[in-house]
Amino acid sequence: MKIGIFGGTFNPPHLGHLAAAQAAAAALELDRLLIVPASIPPHKELPENTPSPEHRLAMAEIMADALLMPQVTEVSSLELDRAGKSYTADTLAALREEYPEAELWLLMGTDMFLTLQYWREPEKILELAGVCAFGRTEQDGEEVFAPQREYLQKTCPGARLTTITLPGLVDISSTRLRELLAKGKGGDYLIPAVYGYILRNQLYGTRADLKHLDIPELRACSYSMVMQKRVRHIRGTEEEAVRLARRWGADETHARRAGILHDCTKYLELEEQLALCERYGVELDELEHQAVKLLHSKTGACIARHVFGEPDEVFDAIFWHTTAKENMTTLEKILYVADYMEPNRTFEGVERLRELAYRDLDAALLLGVETTIQEMKDRNLPVHQSTLRAQAWLREHGVTTEG
Ligand code: ATP
Repeated sequence: MKIGIFGGTFNPPHLGHLAAAQAAAAALELDRLLIVPASIPPHKELPENTPSPEHRLAMAEIMADALLMPQVTEVSSLELDRAGKSYTADTLAALREEYPEAELWLLMGTDMFLTLQYWREPEKILELAGVCAFGRTEQDGEEVFAPQREYLQKTCPGARLTTITLPGLVDISSTRLRELLAKGKGGDYLIPAVYGYILRNQLYGTRADLKHLDIPELRACSYSMVMQKRVRHIRGTEEEAVRLARRWGADETHARRAGILHDCTKYLELEEQLALCERYGVELDELEHQAVKLLHSKTGACIARHVFGEPDEVFDAIFWHTTAKENMTTLEKILYVADYMEPNRTFEGVERLRELAYRDLDAALLLGVETTIQEMKDRNLPVHQSTLRAQAWLREHGVTTEG
């Protein structure tokens, strides 16, 4: 098994780290990639406004998730859990014990590679692991790497050293990013979900008013609350909702914001969902008490209203986007249908739903509702009464799925 170890302060993790992790995992054909946030880095002081270890761990988790390689990537709290300075030699020794058979590779950027001989126990490091170095800027070419490779090879003849070129260089450091964030900038250098996490927790001197976020900030906050594999769907729903709003004369901004936030509580556990419902006074029926899938639309609506200051129209659209109901507003129909047929959806019959959505919105809504009812029946699951009422109401009003 080949294990890559990517250590750093990740204060915060940025797109440079992400690109490096991605490229190294591919170049080395890693079976495992461990992202290891340092507790106390030996070679630099943590600045005063450094967030707690828990926050740094959480941001590293988001970066790991954003690599979209769940079987490979893992965040290790090995160094955060260990007292004192985070010496790499100690970390590698611990990992060697945990994985006696594995081939270990230490990943690092130019700055780290060029100073390796000054770390504690460099010979031990090079004995325990290979080193995979990558450039951080355009200037970091072979003329920088080759002499250092030669030097290390001479001092440690058994050393395994490799240097790779990152396909997309991101010339940024966490130090620079912290400066930018304190001035209300820097979002472009961050994985959106990490940016959202920073905004939501007011880290690095950011003072965002969550009730008045612009669209990129709102996206970032929403993405920071979900698994990163869901971001494509959320983005697709946002775009589809805006297109449908344009087609059917609904408020495009409301459609966009509802699309962005509609799944923001999707990954909360049943207990957390129920606690939010209690907190915000959402009354639940018997089925909703057990069916976690039915709760995220209700709790998502509450978060949209109470945390992000969204108006009633957005609240209602999110609230009904899973079950639908009788007599829906245009915006409610739009979010329901957009969620069903956004460009990433691939189920059989989706093309028909797409065609219908732009020709007859009520017919598309009914088709969505009936598809859900059928699916529930096929899977022997109870259908929520709101969904049945939506179907009955549409039929009573002469709607058919033919449009
Ligand atoms: P700081 O500015 O706080 O010193 P940093 O941006 O250098 O932080 P670290 O967390 O110290 O980030 O870096 C972890 C690892 O990632 C190091 O090996 C570093 O060389 C590498 N690295 C950092 N930034 C980049 C980048 N933009 N491109 C490629 N590698 C990077």
